[in-house]
Amino acid sequence: MLQFEDTPVNTSNAHSNIVGESDPLVNATSKRVRVEDKRVINGSADVNQLVPFKYNWAWDKYLAGCANHWMPQEINMTRDIATWKDPAGLTDDERLIVKRNLGFFVTADSLAANNIVLGTYRHITAPECRQYLLRQAFEEAIHTHAYQYIVESLGLDESEIFNAYNEIKSIRDKDQFLIPFIEVLSDPNFKTGTPDSDRDFLRSLIVFACIMEGLFFYVGFVQILALGRQNKMMGSAEQYQYILRDESMHCNFGIDMINQIKQENPHLWTEEFKKDIQGLMKKGVELEYRYAEDTMPRGVLGLNAPMFKEYLRYVANRRCQQIGIDMIFENANNPFPWMSEMIDLKKEKNFFETRVTEYQTGGALNWD
Ligand code: FE
Repeated sequence: MLQFEDTPVNTSNAHSNIVGESDPLVNATSKRVRVEDKRVINGSADVNQLVPFKYNWAWDKYLAGCANHWMPQEINMTRDIATWKDPAGLTDDERLIVKRNLGFFVTADSLAANNIVLGTYRHITAPECRQYLLRQAFEEAIHTHAYQYIVESLGLDESEIFNAYNEIKSIRDKDQFLIPFIEVLSDPNFKTGTPDSDRDFLRSLIVFACIMEGLFFYVGFVQILALGRQNKMMGSAEQYQYILRDESMHCNFGIDMINQIKQENPHLWTEEFKKDIQGLMKKGVELEYRYAEDTMPRGVLGLNAPMFKEYLRYVANRRCQQIGIDMIFENANNPFPWMSEMIDLKKEKNFFETRVTEYQTGGALNWD
């Protein structure tokens, strides 16, 4: 049995998941956290003891997230700026894709960050998961920075782009769908600990990992990466590639956390709950498909909206499968197999073969 023989003793928090001490030289009320008592939700009140690890998958993803670190200003935008300014550089439909994309993403990652910081984080009692969520929250900030950097580089109308989530129906509808699931968790009166509230929490986690990060981002990712594959807007496409890699890890982390909570609380996973999740997935596919139609009124870049019907069904099936829910759509294939290469990119040698420049690490320190 793993106990924390050498760790300093917590003297304040008495809790059912904390073990008492018998050494009279330490405070008689001292308690130590036992690794086997760690829980992703409703665990020890002492959430400060990262090690010994129980959730190695979370720590491994934290390390992988750090190893993938990048900053938007590493990427040279000169060619994108020239393309954007050249009237013949892009077609109107291609410009629409860029603007709608930024219109969605420029606020989506702020929603994701708020969801973590103001909602999810405080309900998670596994320090390993909290450590990853801190990294993830910073990555969401980097993504928002990246979109802002593209908007600024191309000299786009900032108020138009940043207000798209209010003004463009297909974007607003996606956000409106998500907001109630954020509000549940950020309500100061919300607490996990009953089957109903635990299910509410789990439902919000699933909506975020599997529908927002795992589905709502994907039409946009395919579109911008398709531009890059045609040697257009390659700086922007390179940033989206890094974002896609980060987001696919966010999605996988969320899925691991969902499956762990499921395993620790099997009573939450009822037939009714599974049906509820399938219904939300279907709604997500519908909303994302409307966004595809809105951003691609005609065929563009070898893509068209109907191709995305199949793609979104394929992605939704995959998400269901990843959390152990029956697939919703029959015979949905992946029309964009090249997307998997994009997710697996290595920073040093990426698909577009552009060069990543050094970002400043402590270079601003001045000791004089
Ligand atoms: Fe994310």
